[in-house]
Amino acid sequence: MHSSFCPPQRTLMGPGPSDVSPRVLAAMARPTIGHLDPQFIHLMDEIKSLLQFAFCTRNQLTLPVSAPGSAGMECVFVNLLEPGDTVVVCRNGAFGGRMKENVERCGARAVMVDSPWGETIDIDAVEQALKDHPQANALAFVHAETSTGVRSDAQSLAALASRYGCLSIVDAVTSLGGIELRVDDWGIDAIYSGSQKCLSCAPGISPVSFSDRAVARIRNRKSRVQSWFLDMNLVMGYWGGGSKRSYHHTAPVNALYGLHESLLILHEEGLQSSWARHKNCYQALAAGVDALEINLLVDKSYRLPQLNAIEVPEGIDEAAVRARLLSDWNLEIGAGLGELTGKIWRVGLMGHSANQKNVRLFLSALGSVLA
Ligand code: PLP
Repeated sequence: MHSSFCPPQRTLMGPGPSDVSPRVLAAMARPTIGHLDPQFIHLMDEIKSLLQFAFCTRNQLTLPVSAPGSAGMECVFVNLLEPGDTVVVCRNGAFGGRMKENVERCGARAVMVDSPWGETIDIDAVEQALKDHPQANALAFVHAETSTGVRSDAQSLAALASRYGCLSIVDAVTSLGGIELRVDDWGIDAIYSGSQKCLSCAPGISPVSFSDRAVARIRNRKSRVQSWFLDMNLVMGYWGGGSKRSYHHTAPVNALYGLHESLLILHEEGLQSSWARHKNCYQALAAGVDALEINLLVDKSYRLPQLNAIEVPEGIDEAAVRARLLSDWNLEIGAGLGELTGKIWRVGLMGHSANQKNVRLFLSALGSVLA
């Protein structure tokens, strides 16, 4: 016999999703209304203004794509690129690799600037690539590389893009809400994020934002955007503002109640306080990991507080440790990806999961499983 699915109550300290606040879950359980209902249109306006707050931008084209972070990524690339374009892509982990894949699927050329996994993007190498490829239209990079726990210097990279006449394309799936990010002050042209990391909303929504420069590029395309669903020229008719909204697709109404509530929580806390909370939790975690005589993979100067790559000690079966944490402690952490498979654990301190109680829980649990 089939029956309702009742998931266990876990503590989510992996690379995402993070724990969803009861306030967000309660918001999602409210009655569904029509996606063109005047009350819903009002909610859409609020979501837009809260996203502008979270991204630190006044960009008019700021909205949640009705699909996960990968769709936000795809949305930015398919709208901004045309066949024959050249994009300098920075890759120091799994998600830079996905950017390359997106660029190539748009019929554009990706000029790769590679750095080893676990290291930050080499700004001088990026500048050299921009000098060597003056035809490049865009520079793409990941702000918070979830596969390694590395932060890139988004401010300097965006400035470099602008100096060389390129649009900057930024993956902020894991950074938004967790570390400093200022779209307008840093001159970022196109950015996408995810609902399930430091915003601590349920997975499945991808906030995006485009500068006026990027919007001009989209409006003046020679070819049609290859994806109907993600074509911003069409989506703007629904999310564009004003009271005249036309049907494009059926918005995920209840998921957007959740996003609204999670953004409200961020607004109540304040961006600086949220960034400080993530940093404080990371510092406590790092001190505890150090006390267990275990190393963090990433150099202190560019570590992400919200994603900690912990080196698996010699002789330890990393998968068995994760399995014990889940079965005995209801605690989820992540495995290494790609070339770091088997070598690291990824411990997230994101959004609602970034609290001192969780830090203590993780340290006690890991200490006891390793004892
Ligand atoms: N980019 C980064 C940096 C990510 O960490 C992720 C997901 O972990 C994605 C993109 C893709 O997001 P999603 O899994 O929501 O599609």
